[in-house]
Amino acid sequence: MTLIRPDLDTLPAYVPGRAIPGAIKLASNEVPLPPTPPVLAAIAEAAAAGNRYPDLAVTGLTARLADELGMAAERIAIGCGSVSLCQQLVQATCREPSDEVLFAWRSFEAYPIVTQIGGATMRTVPLDADFRHDLDAMAAAVTPNTRLVMVCSPNNPTGTVVTRDELERFLAAVGPDVLVALDEAYHEYVTDPAAVDGTALLDAHPNLVVLRTFSKAYRLAALRVGYALGTPEVATALRKVCSPFSVNSVAQAAAIAALDDAENLLAACAEVVTERVRVRDALLAAGYTVPPTQANFVWVALGERTAAFAAHCLDHKVVVRPFAPDGCRVTVSTPEENDAFLAAARSFDG
Ligand SMILES: *Cc1c(COP(=O)(O)O)cnc(C)c1O
Repeated sequence: MTLIRPDLDTLPAYVPGRAIPGAIKLASNEVPLPPTPPVLAAIAEAAAAGNRYPDLAVTGLTARLADELGMAAERIAIGCGSVSLCQQLVQATCREPSDEVLFAWRSFEAYPIVTQIGGATMRTVPLDADFRHDLDAMAAAVTPNTRLVMVCSPNNPTGTVVTRDELERFLAAVGPDVLVALDEAYHEYVTDPAAVDGTALLDAHPNLVVLRTFSKAYRLAALRVGYALGTPEVATALRKVCSPFSVNSVAQAAAIAALDDAENLLAACAEVVTERVRVRDALLAAGYTVPPTQANFVWVALGERTAAFAAHCLDHKVVVRPFAPDGCRVTVSTPEENDAFLAAARSFDG
């Protein structure tokens, strides 16, 4: 007999990017700069009221986002990071072990984990030869048991985007009875005009839910706050399955302050957009396979050489994120840090 459900033994662990003292961390797609001074001030002020429970309904941040996005507040659900919202989506849609969550693979490593925690069945469809979502194949993989589809654009870890046309065709193909979650954690880095912007499709598609986060461009990864946009019905369901008070008051204050300072924070994304082209071009010139990226990271397709490449980078004091046996994801950072990575990549002869 065991006290714990036996299937947890097969649960894949979420592997955080390693933080090694003295090494450059390019493993978690964070921004290397700290929160800006007004955001730090808001964090300190909120921390001073840390003896009080946070606002359960996350009223202030919800209202602010509603204003920002021109959407009714009842269509917004805030979560303890968008990873938590992914898990809430599974909990809100799946109840039977036969209920299916469909996603591309390789994609965000949290999707298999939250699916299994939710007791649902996962179905995956391989990325195409260009490391992109194969949405036609995904539409064909929808069954009467499919409850939720996760679409990640830009895709973590390959950086490729789904176009608006592709997503509209996909939504038409799957029909209104399957919830489609578009995970746009890297939305602020997207410059391709053909790329999908989920917010533009929400009104026409009640079965679409868009996920965004303050962890990346807004520099608040440690504070854990993300949000979902959908119909009032979907947002209400997400709130129902949310662990109470999981969006803490410091995170709420920081996110509002980050929105106030968005101009500053988003301006810093422009350097990453320039650098990601330079990093990719240098890798291509060195003979690597690297798909075009619309995020703040590049995907180096290394196959069986993945672990050796990551170890070699570590020898050069650069921490990348290996996903054996497919490749390494490397965050695009400042020019200096990117140069350190490129020097390591050039000297790899695995
Ligand atoms: C980083 C990331 C998130 C954000 O996670 P948080 O829980 O908000 O920190 C969500 N989805 C993808 C694909 C990501 O890469």
